[in-house]
Amino acid sequence: MFDVIIVGAGPAGLTSGIYAARAGYKTLILEAGVPGGQAGTTETIENYPGFPQGVSGSELMIKFYEQAVNFGVQVEYKHVSSLELEGKVKKVITDDEVYEAKAVIIASGARPRLLGVPGEDKFRGKGVSYCATCDGFFFKDQDVAVVGGGDTAIEEAMYLAKICRQVTVIHRRDRLRATRILQERAFKNEKIQFVWDSVVEEILGKEKAEELVLRNVITQEQKILKVNGVFIFVGYIPNTDFLPESLQKDEQGYVLTDEELKTNLPGVFAVGDVRQKRLRQVATAVGDGASVIVPLEKYLEDRG
Ligand code: NAP
Repeated sequence: MFDVIIVGAGPAGLTSGIYAARAGYKTLILEAGVPGGQAGTTETIENYPGFPQGVSGSELMIKFYEQAVNFGVQVEYKHVSSLELEGKVKKVITDDEVYEAKAVIIASGARPRLLGVPGEDKFRGKGVSYCATCDGFFFKDQDVAVVGGGDTAIEEAMYLAKICRQVTVIHRRDRLRATRILQERAFKNEKIQFVWDSVVEEILGKEKAEELVLRNVITQEQKILKVNGVFIFVGYIPNTDFLPESLQKDEQGYVLTDEELKTNLPGVFAVGDVRQKRLRQVATAVGDGASVIVPLEKYLEDRG
């Protein structure tokens, strides 16, 4: 029996692990992929304090992981398929094992939202990508498109501009959602051009993605954009498929917590991107991971 099982080894889960293990609790983190979550695949993180020159996401996440392990956190690489959270003993069910704990922290993060257009699935990994850091290099000196107008789209467009010949950002409105500092940098970048008020209707190609069918949402005009690759950054979906109905979520599926990161179920907490919150950053994930220790300790003490 573990004191606490943490589902997910991104920045929120690893920080929860560091605090829980350091407080002397027997702590298990279950992770379906590799530690680091989305932060681990981020090229450079510029706004995490302590790194005036920025830091590579993977480097930072390796340090988080090592720190958690150094404090005695056990990490197992298993996919959690369901949870039984109602009783005093929580059950965490993976594909081949059932783990028991007194408390559970959900830190399963979020994943990229799909565009949902014809050709997207067919050309996934063949010109369609959701990670510039992972796949950008395949498009060295080639032409790529980026779909979306948020911080992710603009940051990734700037990263791609360092590698690719031309980056075309396709946004469904005439104004970016991204923060001003990112916008200003992107507008100054000669390799980045913008197609405003437009959506991708279809991705065409033979073996690989070759053309995007764009539609201007104001004039309804269609045009073809020739590309070697398309990177889609249109937001995220919380990883909550394995969570029971009884755990309260908002209409988008993000887990609802109170200020102490408690969910509606006693002994069950949620931290990081998976929960409903205003700002999803490594810094806020770390904040959640640290803050959860106080209500966790209180719960474990009262539970006995
Ligand atoms: P986001 O802020 O939700 O932006 C998603 C973008 O995709 C929006 O521009 C949206 O258009 C567009 N979009 C959504 N659905 C679409 C569709 N079906 N077709 C075409 N376009 C679509 O997501 P994000 O950029 O991934 O950012 C997520 C969170 O992480 C945000 O809180 C962001 O601030 C944060 N973040 C911060 C940093 C940083 O601080 N350096 C870096 C990355 C991410 P509309 O604008 O019209 O809605």
